[in-house]
Amino acid sequence: MNTAFALLLAAAVVLLAAAWRRVITARRELAQAHANLESARADAEQQHRLLENAIDALQVGVEIYDAEDRLVLANRRVRDWFPAQHFDGPDRFAELLETSRRNGTLPLEAQADPDTWMQERLAQRGKLERPLLQQWADGRATLLHERRTPEGHLVCTRQDVSELIAKERALQSSQAQLQAIIGTAGVAILTLDEAGLIASANAATERMLGYAPEELLGRDVGLLMDEATRALLRADMQAWLEAGDRELLGRQRELGVLHQGGRELTVQLALAEVRNNGVRVFVAVLTDITERKRFEVDLQHANEQLLRLSTTDALTELANRRLLMNRLEDEWRRALRSSEPLALLLIDVDFFKLYNDHYGHPAGDACLQKVAEVLRQSANRPSDLAARYGGEEFVLLLPHTDAGGAMAVATRVQQLLREAAIQHELSPQGPDVTLSMGLVSGQANSLGSAASWLAQADLALYQAKSHGRNRIVQAPTF
Ligand code: GH3
Ligand code: MG
Ligand code: MG
Repeated sequence: MNTAFALLLAAAVVLLAAAWRRVITARRELAQAHANLESARADAEQQHRLLENAIDALQVGVEIYDAEDRLVLANRRVRDWFPAQHFDGPDRFAELLETSRRNGTLPLEAQADPDTWMQERLAQRGKLERPLLQQWADGRATLLHERRTPEGHLVCTRQDVSELIAKERALQSSQAQLQAIIGTAGVAILTLDEAGLIASANAATERMLGYAPEELLGRDVGLLMDEATRALLRADMQAWLEAGDRELLGRQRELGVLHQGGRELTVQLALAEVRNNGVRVFVAVLTDITERKRFEVDLQHANEQLLRLSTTDALTELANRRLLMNRLEDEWRRALRSSEPLALLLIDVDFFKLYNDHYGHPAGDACLQKVAEVLRQSANRPSDLAARYGGEEFVLLLPHTDAGGAMAVATRVQQLLREAAIQHELSPQGPDVTLSMGLVSGQANSLGSAASWLAQADLALYQAKSHGRNRIVQAPTF
């Protein structure tokens, strides 16, 4: 009996020990599970903080609303942007808007009619198809995106686009200014593509060339010029496109272009090239210089005439004394440099006072014209100059001519004059007009001067007169 009891007791003790061990194990497992749970919660909290910090660090504003449109989260940027707004309570979006209205911090576009604006805003809440641009009293502009999550939350992001908007406004303003300048410019401004097709033409183009802008769009610029000019411009543009000849662009060039009515205009063309994403556009600026050109030609004619008048003797149309003296100085200096000989004939009509007295002054003028014609024909090298020195005195200036040559010219003068046979009844030399000549020739030297040369010729002429006239006297050579 005792043995049985002892056995039973031993069994009970074994069972009890086993049960106790299980209790111990279970408690240990429970403690472990608890620790695991704590660690998981700490992990989750860390993840949450990380997420919040990350959202705070974003350059965009972030607000998250739950399915009932209650604010769940607003990041630092949003809180900075709306300092007057309380983001702590679980306010609905509609209540937040109401607060903003009371604070006067709704966006600028709401200010005119806040009620209507708020109604519309709430009606489109969560259904924005395009981002919403909002302007604020502090000058900021934001772009609002709304996105619904699968759980029904609404994630709103606000992007600060103030700089972008400011740049766009500046661009629009400078574009408007440019358009105004192009539109009111007095010069024609055309843009051409690489093929020479007209892409735009300003108002001045119509005033200058007669074509309305729409008549030119898409047409070849060659339309505005004749065949030759067209070929020239094509070659230029080709050269530029192939070789990038910078010269072509910088250079201003004169061009003949055709008005729609067929009239030819002279224009000054300046070309510039604009590259945009690999597309090349030429800007052609045309200034109408037709009037100026005509004026220039007229002026040139007038100047030429003036020069001719100021250097020509009116009666004989020979060179006058002014031109003679200039040429004499020039030829003297040239002869000094080249050591070429130079010759000069000073010629005086004999007994001309008698001629005038007998035939009258108008006949005297006609006589001088005939003598002038004889002189013109006698000196026929391009460098020779026949001039009226004054009264009935003339000069033949003969560059590159020695004494022999000058004597030949003087003899030809006498010969041609004899052939002209200008009657002079009262002349003691009679019956025709005769001439006396002083001839000077030789090398120009630095001791003498053009004036001293003329004085030598005058002396020789005086001798011709005093030796009985109608003769050639040669001054002693230098
Ligand atoms: P000499 O043989 O010595 O040269 O005598 P001359 O009569 O030719 O010379 P003089 O100097 O005494 O007279 C020159 C004349 O030429 C005086 C002037 O009336 C005349 N004369 C000068 N210029 C002109 C002109 O343009 N037309 C006319 N018809 N006569 C002129
Ligand atoms: Mg005289
Ligand atoms: Mg005379």
